[in-house]
Amino acid sequence: MTSSVSAMLTSLRRTFDEGLTRPLEWRREELRSVQRMLREGEDELLEALHADLGKPAAEARLTDLSLVAAEIDVMLRNLGRWSRPERVHMPAMQQPGHASVIREPLGVALVISPWNYPVQLLVLPMAAAIGAGNCVVAKPSELAPRTSAAIARLATRYLDGRAVAVVEGGVAETQELLGQPFDTIFYTGNGRVGRIVMEAAARHLTPVTLELGGKSPTIVDADTDIAVAARRIAWGKFMNAGQTCVAPDYVLVHRAAADELVDALRTSVRAFYGEDPRRSPDYGRIVNDHHFDRLHGLLASTEATPAVGGGSDRAQRYIAPTILTGVGPADAVMDDEIFGPILPVLEVDDLDAAVRFVGQRPKPLALYVFSRSKESVEKVLAGTSSGGVGVNCTVVQLAIPGLPFGGVGPSGMGSYHGRHGFETFSHRRAVLSKPTTPDLPVQYPPYTAAKEWLLKKLL
Ligand code: NAD
Repeated sequence: MTSSVSAMLTSLRRTFDEGLTRPLEWRREELRSVQRMLREGEDELLEALHADLGKPAAEARLTDLSLVAAEIDVMLRNLGRWSRPERVHMPAMQQPGHASVIREPLGVALVISPWNYPVQLLVLPMAAAIGAGNCVVAKPSELAPRTSAAIARLATRYLDGRAVAVVEGGVAETQELLGQPFDTIFYTGNGRVGRIVMEAAARHLTPVTLELGGKSPTIVDADTDIAVAARRIAWGKFMNAGQTCVAPDYVLVHRAAADELVDALRTSVRAFYGEDPRRSPDYGRIVNDHHFDRLHGLLASTEATPAVGGGSDRAQRYIAPTILTGVGPADAVMDDEIFGPILPVLEVDDLDAAVRFVGQRPKPLALYVFSRSKESVEKVLAGTSSGGVGVNCTVVQLAIPGLPFGGVGPSGMGSYHGRHGFETFSHRRAVLSKPTTPDLPVQYPPYTAAKEWLLKKLL
């Protein structure tokens, strides 16, 4: 393996050095090929996503395929503008001259992705890297094996093999890749592996983007439309059976609205998935036995009672959409990111208590707040930090290409989507260009009193 990985990298580096990926025309053509791959490979990908995660086709189209296609549309429309040199101000002392920032590709990028949105989280960063003019090695997750195989097959068919490679495999293969001197590494997954990636990158001083997770809180004020809040929370939480990095992890609800919210969540779950969500074609499954057992263990160890759901079936890796009430901060479900269809609801006395609760914990990837009051929303924004925020919505903030998508602190570093992805895979190179005349002697030694006087005046 080692020799084949380093041979692959040598070949990609040669492609990069020869300049194949730099012209905008190549980038555009390759991005169009990615779109064709998603369009013509749709059936194959939908089938694989269903086999790996029980993803309903409509949901998979929305979250894995259309989102990427829409992002690539934005890239195609804006690539020319984004890659144009950006002129910057010249201070009087440095006149005449011309200063600008040019974007250049970093080189060969490594993209490592997880299993939960295995198309989106691999292909979108790949596209951003291509759009910025890089060669890419993409490593899909072994925990979504059917999707990994489908993407590898399709990439060979549709993408330019001189510049883009998909390498399948698990921990060993990823570690092998991480031993290589890439020019940038873009990793999406959990923080434990994020640390491994960063350590490996440090050996080559390779910059990293880490898209991690965390416990994303949802604050529900008493002054809000509870029915709408419940629908949007239940939708964001239970899509992909809760295996979404920006899913609401837990709810902090004003005590006065708690009962109404739990009732409305129950109504929403029933409206979405029927009396028995196991039979709903719109409800997904847990990715593997390990994660099923982890979630089942959480349900067994929590002291809270399920107000909704609570059932499971290991043979199907099914865990019912579950709402837990009477949860305290010390409960097992409040330790780590749940990453499954279990939603603890905690009651708080007021908004200040909710803000304090969030502020005392690690900065999450997303934070949601439901309130009619602008003041309350401002209070939450000012008193907390998170990668992104949804006000009166969940999850959909990541469908806005203009918004940077990424974490802060333990939920990650760096961002992508829209222009932010282009920037992540580009080097901002400072270029100052000056004419050879005039060449005033004032800046050169010896620094006489007259020159010093003049310099003081000029600076
Ligand atoms: P995962 O197990 O598929 O791992 C992600 C990648 O890391 C895989 O490609 C895998 O091969 C590789 N990997 C795993 N162990 C490794 C090791 N020891 N050394 C080197 N490489 C290794 O996915 P996961 O980490 O279970 O994904 C879930 C986590 O990802 C959650 O915490 C979730 O919040 C987070 N996530 C974040 C985002 C985001 O955009 N910020 C998106 C999705 C998921």
